[in-house]
Amino acid sequence: MGFAALVGQADLKVRLGSILKGEPGHAYILSGPLGIGKSTFAQVFAQALLCQEPTPDGGCGACDSCRHFSHQAHPDFRTLLLDPADKVIKVERVRQTIQADIALRPQFGRRKVYLVDADFLNEQGQNTLLKSLEEPPDFVTFILMASGLERLLPTVLSRLTVLALQRYRDEEVIAILAREWQASGQAMPDAESLAFYARYANGVPGAAINLLMSSWFADLRQETIDFYHQIGSFSRSRMLTAGFGFFDANRARADVLLDILASLVRDQIVLLMTGDPSHLTNPDQFAQLAVRDEKKRQAAVPGLMRAAAAITAARRGLALNASFEGLACHLLLTLRKELIHA
Ligand SMILES: [Zn+2]
Repeated sequence: MGFAALVGQADLKVRLGSILKGEPGHAYILSGPLGIGKSTFAQVFAQALLCQEPTPDGGCGACDSCRHFSHQAHPDFRTLLLDPADKVIKVERVRQTIQADIALRPQFGRRKVYLVDADFLNEQGQNTLLKSLEEPPDFVTFILMASGLERLLPTVLSRLTVLALQRYRDEEVIAILAREWQASGQAMPDAESLAFYARYANGVPGAAINLLMSSWFADLRQETIDFYHQIGSFSRSRMLTAGFGFFDANRARADVLLDILASLVRDQIVLLMTGDPSHLTNPDQFAQLAVRDEKKRQAAVPGLMRAAAAITAARRGLALNASFEGLACHLLLTLRKELIHA
């Protein structure tokens, strides 16, 4: 498979193509959010780097090297990924897989490729890898993958050429989802669902796939929508009992609950400001989210903006492990105050 067979990422494909036309460097890092497709691009790139007759679109698919690669049995392709039993890639594995191996010549072609998931290398692991990155043999190319570059040591990053993956457009995510479902042989979700999940996942196909496959997301979304539409009628005490009960019951997925709430608030702001339903994350909620009373419309936007800011603050607090009870109660009362007019 070549790059042309992959959806989107036009800029990245041009860069990879020009790398393959010239003399490839020693170390690249594919960066982009979790689920964006770094691993897929890394595999095609690695196959092309090892191929005996590569083209700018990837490996030829026919040579001995490509055949070994497609059978996942290429002797000159080494991967250093997280062992599911561990939380990080152990330093010992960096030593075994890379340091102890790097000087050995390729068994097959002109090159060896190491694929490394840098998200799971701690500082010690990065420092161990750095020794190999500093002076690799001519025949070695590293492909690292990272969901964010900020975790990397500057000394490591300075050795790498960054190849960034961009978020996909909604229609590209839909195309990727449709392919996944076709390949899996399962019944295809309906077009409305595909459109919702593509937009909700904000350009990250892996996130859309996980949510679509999950047994709980659709229910949590519906419950959050029901809750949202009731907020205006809740008294303060009901908010702190029933409202808190809803948050508490979904404590383990509070981040997703907050994301859904934020998407509803954002949709309502978009509707009030533009009247255009075509950019909603939750188009199925169009009728309920529209504010028809002209007087209420005037007052609604500033309150919704403050509600959105409060959700963002709660999301940040969760990430920092702040007290759940404190966060939830403060947010619930803010939502009641700010959304009651909407
Ligand atoms: Zn080939």
